[in-house]
Amino acid sequence: MPELPEVEVTRRFLAPRVVGRRILEIVHDDTARYQGTQSAVGLRVIEAGRRGKFLRFRLEEDRELIVHLGMSGGFRLQPTGHTRVVWKVGDQVLYFHDPRRFGRWWVIAEGDESRIPLLARMGPEPLDPGFSAALLGARLGKRQSPIKAVLLDQTVIAGLGNIYADESLFAAGIRPDRPANTLELAEVEALAAAIRRVLAEALKAGGSTLGDGAYRLPDARPGYFQHAHKVYGRAAQPCRRCQTAIVRIKIAGRSTHFCPVCQR
Ligand SMILES: [Zn+2]
Repeated sequence: MPELPEVEVTRRFLAPRVVGRRILEIVHDDTARYQGTQSAVGLRVIEAGRRGKFLRFRLEEDRELIVHLGMSGGFRLQPTGHTRVVWKVGDQVLYFHDPRRFGRWWVIAEGDESRIPLLARMGPEPLDPGFSAALLGARLGKRQSPIKAVLLDQTVIAGLGNIYADESLFAAGIRPDRPANTLELAEVEALAAAIRRVLAEALKAGGSTLGDGAYRLPDARPGYFQHAHKVYGRAAQPCRRCQTAIVRIKIAGRSTHFCPVCQR
């Protein structure tokens, strides 16, 4: 699933292609998945933003087009066998490619997140200047669930998914199955710093394109951060730091990877 870095890379690619242009058409045949899109036609795009894993395009007349890429969604410059939406904006045509159909679009009155509860309850943005260990610690609070599961909760922190939760916990030296409320202050500080570092590095590398090739830039270029993964997808391979075999377990139903020596 595209996580914060992949969504942000997508935003940066799309912004110069859509901002300032007028939406001419949004074509699809699924009004349940792509809601209210007709009301965006004729409006100019003012800004291309992001909140967690959501893209938010601010439009004229105080409206917003919100897009969630779901498990396998992404924009393309060319049509594919899995094109679900064709978005004509000015002289640009963007194709929303989504083999697994978990992606969603909404057009809402600006700031009216009532139809998108997850957006309304979204936790702090880890790359915002205001993000801090104190803020993360307060969000972890007294939660007894494994720290990995807590990091996947978008109301605790925005934008982390399976890859970057595993990589951040390795970078911080924390076992993913530790109950969140057992983290010492120094560990919360290490984790907050690790999350920011890992996400920033992933952004610089254009995100992660896994073996399924699901995530790509709209011009079909892959990301490169998968080559820098320390634990994610590396079960039974030697830890890059200590050579111990990386372990894979399930936490909250999700595959979780860690080094039993480097992470405590
Ligand atoms: Zn190790």
